[in-house]
Amino acid sequence: MQLSSTILDNFVNVGVIAIIIVFQQEIRRFLLLLGSRYNLMGRFSLDSFFMSKTPGMMSFYIKPLVRACEDFSKSKTGALIVITRRSELLDYVQTGELINAVISKQLLKSVFFKNSPLHDGALIISQSKIKAAGCILPVSQNMELPKQLGLRHRAALGITEATDAMAIVVSEETGRISFFNAGKGLYNIKSEELEKRLEEGVVNN
Ligand code: ATP
Ligand code: MG
Repeated sequence: MQLSSTILDNFVNVGVIAIIIVFQQEIRRFLLLLGSRYNLMGRFSLDSFFMSKTPGMMSFYIKPLVRACEDFSKSKTGALIVITRRSELLDYVQTGELINAVISKQLLKSVFFKNSPLHDGALIISQSKIKAAGCILPVSQNMELPKQLGLRHRAALGITEATDAMAIVVSEETGRISFFNAGKGLYNIKSEELEKRLEEGVVNN
C-alpha cells in the first residue's frame, strides 16, 4: 500500500513537471497577459488613487487630445495614440522614448510632426501623462481587418487585443480617425464620436 502510494506520488510529481515543460510557452504567454492586464503597482499607486476618483479629473486631457486628432485629420498627419487603463503597459513604454509630460495639444502635435524623430511608432498616455513616444506595439493578425489598412491600424488593434488599453489612429493616407478598444475598431469616425468613446473608456476604467 505504502509502495503504491509512493509510486503514485512520484508519477504525479513527474507529471506536473512534464506538463510545465510541455506547456512552458503557453504558461509564459498567460502570465504575460495577466501581468499586462492587471498591473497591481499601477492600481495602488498614489497617482491612480487621486486621479481615478472623479470623472472630471480623469478626462481633463480628452479635449486637447481630440483637438490634436482633428488637426492631424485635416493635415493628414499619421498618428497612433494609446490610452492605458488599468495596466500601465510598462513593457511597451520601454520600447520607446520616455517623455512623462503633461498632455497638451501642442506637445502632441510636436511629437507627430512629420520630421520629428519621435513621429514613428505609438505615443502612450498613462496616468493622465504622455509617458512615451516612438513605442513599438504588437501587430494584430486579425484576418477581418480591411485590406487597405496597414501596420499603423494593425498595431492599434493589436494592443487592444493584448491589453485593456484604448487606441486612436489618424491615417496619413486618408486623414480618417479610428478608435480601437477590446480588439474592435470603429473606422472613420467624427471627432465628437471619438470624444464620447474616450470619455466612456476613461470613466469606466
Ligand atoms: P496610414 O493610413 O497612416 O498609412 P496604415 O495603417 O496604412 O496607416 P502604414 O502605412 O503601414 O499603416 O503605417 C506605417 C507606420 O505605422 C509606421 O511608419 C509606424 O509609424 C507605424 N507602425 C507600424 N508598425 C508599428 C508597430 N508595430 N508599432 C507601432 N507603430 C507602428
Ligand atoms: Mg499606409
